[in-house]
Amino acid sequence: MRGLLAAGLERRERGYRGRFAPSPTGPLHRGNLRTALLGWLVARRRRGEWLLRIDDLDAPRNRPGAEEAILADLRWLGLTWDGPPIRQSTRRGIYASVLSALRRAGALYPCRCSRRLLADISAPHGALAVYPGLCRTAPPQWGPVEGRLPSWRLRLGPGSLAWPEHGRLAVSVDGPRQVGDVVLRRADGLVAYHLATAVDELALGIEEVLRGEDLRASTGAQVAVMAALGASPPRYAHVPLWRDASGQRLSKREGAEGLAGYRARGLDAAGVIGELAASLDLVPSGTRLSAADLLAGLEADRLEGALRGTDARTLGTGGREGRQA
Ligand code: GLU
Repeated sequence: MRGLLAAGLERRERGYRGRFAPSPTGPLHRGNLRTALLGWLVARRRRGEWLLRIDDLDAPRNRPGAEEAILADLRWLGLTWDGPPIRQSTRRGIYASVLSALRRAGALYPCRCSRRLLADISAPHGALAVYPGLCRTAPPQWGPVEGRLPSWRLRLGPGSLAWPEHGRLAVSVDGPRQVGDVVLRRADGLVAYHLATAVDELALGIEEVLRGEDLRASTGAQVAVMAALGASPPRYAHVPLWRDASGQRLSKREGAEGLAGYRARGLDAAGVIGELAASLDLVPSGTRLSAADLLAGLEADRLEGALRGTDARTLGTGGREGRQA
């Protein structure tokens, strides 16, 4: 396990490696396609690698055929990835050994709080953002009680959690107040998203995690896992979400059209790349071009602008409880 993480950290030093990590819960929507395009452009410009990781640990949420559709869409757009797709479901042994090591080191504790209990004690408006530590000091009972297993939580120390963010010096959050003791293994035995993704960014040697800005709120929890493993975080680039003309985040229905919607409007791959790129202000609207031509003609400051967008307002949100794989 240590060797795996050490090899990943060493890989991080040897040239750019990014990743795109969709969950196979349905087709890629417009916003996912645009984030994929940005990640691909950044990696290729740096002459680096771009990995495709399939976040398929939460089996009940996976949809049959979704993974194949994701691969087909990326290929159709010319967004080629390096190596075979990396399915998290094939890496359960790695996550299990990391969890055991953390448990042996005393970094975890079992928690028997149900979702309902946490909902009941949370503020009347809004879900509880940070676990209040109810089971922190209870005698650790890892086995089943009345037939139910506990979830496993990370015991977070005091202080802040910081990570480098693209184009900025660093972002930091207050660990206990904004992140808290997150679940790393659910009571149903599933490995939590925060654990799996933190381990994979390290083990796969990812230099920069480029993803939608909605995931910035998960970063504190993931950096906390990395810190517990004694590793420094990669750089993060949280890119703007697709918003409509009035600045609202696209609704599921609007964004959900994905490639099928574009095709229904008669667009081919060059038309779609043109529209995605125009929405990022990389090309004038109405441009038609391949991903490779977009890359070849790309100006550095335009790409920088697309990465930063106008998201400064959303900076600094803390971690949230309960986002799972
Ligand atoms: N698979 C998750 C998602 O699609 C996480 C992605 C990420 O960390 O980039 O929302």
